[in-house]
Amino acid sequence: MIYDKNIPIGNWMITDVNIITGDTSVEKAIKLMNEKNVSYVLVGTKEKPEGIFTERDVVKFFSQGQNGKKEPVKNHMSKDLKLTHESVSFEESLRIMIDEDIRHLPIISKNEIAGMVSSKELIKFKYNILEEAFHNTRRELQKTVDLLKKDSDERIQILMKDYEKLQTKAFTDDMTGLFNRRYFEDRLSEEIARSQRYGYPLSLVFLDVDDFKYYNDTNGHQKGDKVLETIGEILRFFNSELTEKSANLRKSDIVARYGGEEFIVILPYADNKEALAVAERIRVAIEKHKFEHEKKQPQGDLTISAGVATFPEMARTAEELINMADKALYHAKRTGKNKVCCFNPKKTVAK
Ligand code: GH3
Ligand code: MG
Ligand code: MG
Repeated sequence: MIYDKNIPIGNWMITDVNIITGDTSVEKAIKLMNEKNVSYVLVGTKEKPEGIFTERDVVKFFSQGQNGKKEPVKNHMSKDLKLTHESVSFEESLRIMIDEDIRHLPIISKNEIAGMVSSKELIKFKYNILEEAFHNTRRELQKTVDLLKKDSDERIQILMKDYEKLQTKAFTDDMTGLFNRRYFEDRLSEEIARSQRYGYPLSLVFLDVDDFKYYNDTNGHQKGDKVLETIGEILRFFNSELTEKSANLRKSDIVARYGGEEFIVILPYADNKEALAVAERIRVAIEKHKFEHEKKQPQGDLTISAGVATFPEMARTAEELINMADKALYHAKRTGKNKVCCFNPKKTVAK
């Protein structure tokens, strides 16, 4: 059994309990203990236990010079009977036994004795657990020692790989494999600072799936997830080295899932015109892709809308830039969807 200190004690209980009535003779009680090879018998009934007669009571009985073996066992049993309930935890039950210096603990379930646990069994089990934990710790320690023994370069490589793995996990969106919003936000600030320092433009493309709630409602959330995964693939394809030369996204571009059905692309070096062109190519690629059940969409097609904004001409900070791209996206939605818009404070240009 897997050890958990909160596991109820009922899991360790032995249900084969010997119970005798209080009027049974000491002689009979001892005989029963011998026959069954147990070190106690319970006295009373299952519903109303009155005491316990144990090896200790036997020793006391004889050491007091008692030889009236016909005497009722109730005169010589331990009357202060400690009980526990089957739902009480392993640790708590063991603590009762240690505190009270008792070796057998009857367990109550549904108002009657359901079984017993013995301290010997519990301690043995706990010992095994501690021993296993000790071995595990030793194994971990040994791994560290082995690592330290390795050549320091090799050691650094191993640690770096572990670190990279952790980083990748922290920065990627599980569903699409794209970067997540946290990574995007970190990178945008960095990229804006760089673009400012070296004096080149930077653009953002904010994408949102059109009528996605409708898609989910019509085809189910799982099919919706599949669409998001596919859009992730399309965006990754745009960003792959293969397409680098054919002037889609560049290798330095950063594609992230911003939230639910929203994606965002950072295009360092791209001015507004170039960014609009990239966004338009993405829009067309998604429009052309045959998504499952897309015919049922309000426009008969699964599409995206996009908003584009460019630094430094339209915004001075990362936050402002996101805001502008979001406004442009909103405009694209309001004016018919499946289109790319650019935010311009004076006029908003459609595709
Ligand atoms: P609009 O064209 O204006 O963008 O309309 P919309 O229905 O796409 O937009 P709305 O914001 O009303 O709904 C977005 C929907 O996207 C609702 C939400 O349940 C769904 N969504 C968000 N994240 C996920 C996801 O991870 N998986 C799935 N299947 N659906 C998601
Ligand atoms: Mg949305
Ligand atoms: Mg949407």
